[in-house]
Amino acid sequence: MVVKSEDGRKLRSFKFKEEAEGQEVRAVERRILLETLANRLPSDSICFSSKLAKIEKTGTGETLLELVDGTQLLAKVVIGCDGIRSPIAKWMGFSEPHYAGHCAYRGLGFYPNGQPFEPNVNYVYGRGLRAGFVPVSPTKVYWFICFNSPSPGPRIDDPFSLKKEAREMIKGWPSELLNVIDMSAEDTLSRTPLTDRWLWPIISPSASADGVVLVGDAWHPMTPNLGQGGCCALEDAIVLSRKLAGALKSGHTSVDDALRLYTTERWPRIFPLTIRANLVGALLQWENPVVCDIRNSIVVPKLVRLRPLLEHTNFTFEPLN
Ligand SMILES: Cc1cc2nc3c(=O)[nH]c(=O)nc-3n(C[C@H](O)[C@H](O)[C@H](O)COP(=O)(O)OP(=O)(O)OC[C@H]3O[C@@H](n4cnc5c(N)ncnc54)[C@H](O)[C@@H]3O)c2cc1C
Repeated sequence: MVVKSEDGRKLRSFKFKEEAEGQEVRAVERRILLETLANRLPSDSICFSSKLAKIEKTGTGETLLELVDGTQLLAKVVIGCDGIRSPIAKWMGFSEPHYAGHCAYRGLGFYPNGQPFEPNVNYVYGRGLRAGFVPVSPTKVYWFICFNSPSPGPRIDDPFSLKKEAREMIKGWPSELLNVIDMSAEDTLSRTPLTDRWLWPIISPSASADGVVLVGDAWHPMTPNLGQGGCCALEDAIVLSRKLAGALKSGHTSVDDALRLYTTERWPRIFPLTIRANLVGALLQWENPVVCDIRNSIVVPKLVRLRPLLEHTNFTFEPLN
């Protein structure tokens, strides 16, 4: 990882493996991850473009799902992994995610003849503003800019405006970052308000009830400051699979118990991580020039110890059979 200030000064560089044993960064393009997961399933087990319009319980204890095209599905178990605006979470009584005070531009630089970068995570710190880029394949480079904003702002879909605004925001920053933005394909550009949901005990609804359970952002949206939202969704999937397989194999545990055991096991990991990601974001988005100078001249180069900061990424599990 290479950390720079906005004027291009190198503040620190390190190798994850040397800072903490077993640590490494793997940048994976979302499309590749989804295709890889989907390809492991029988071809007729996924029905794409099935947007949920309505969900309700039936008198027999099953769950009726109605899609926007009118299709009705009757289910014994529903796993709600429908993301940050999950209609299933809403139906289960969860509040809307809370805006964290900053937004992110994102995109994927495309270099048809090969991207020119070392395999590093490149980070640039500004005031109330930070950005980064990391190669994800021989031809693609992911980039982001995270900026303070008092409100989530309007939804912007026009790629020309998105690219222009992103460039404008980091005018004068290291040219390699601007170059990655310039190389971005239009359909990869986005501007996202960053939100999370703190799952306070007692106050927060249960993530499992009557054969319906939540997974990933639908349950625990978190800000991306630790890069853990997607990782946690995958962890959820592993734990839930094990609990359900255990119930089906043993015959002693009911499916509802399995869903409950999953939420009990996952909550102690997810709740502190959501709070920690939020607080890290608040620290990294500091605007005060004196504080930013101290961060760049003392805290980042000399004080920060990475091993404890990376511990949250450790997750061990027995392989699925
Ligand atoms: C700026 C930014 C940077 C991030 N960086 C990282 C990172 O570095 N590492 C990391 O691990 N995570 C990161 N994340 C978080 C990560 O993207 C999410 O946590 C992850 O995508 C959650 O996966 P999910 O499957 O729960 O939800 P999603 O990926 O949102 O998938 C939800 C799915 O549900 C579908 N859906 C929505 N509504 C309906 C409906 N009504 N009916 C049917 N389907 C529906 C959607 O189309 C989508 O396919 C980042 C997030 C942001 C915003």
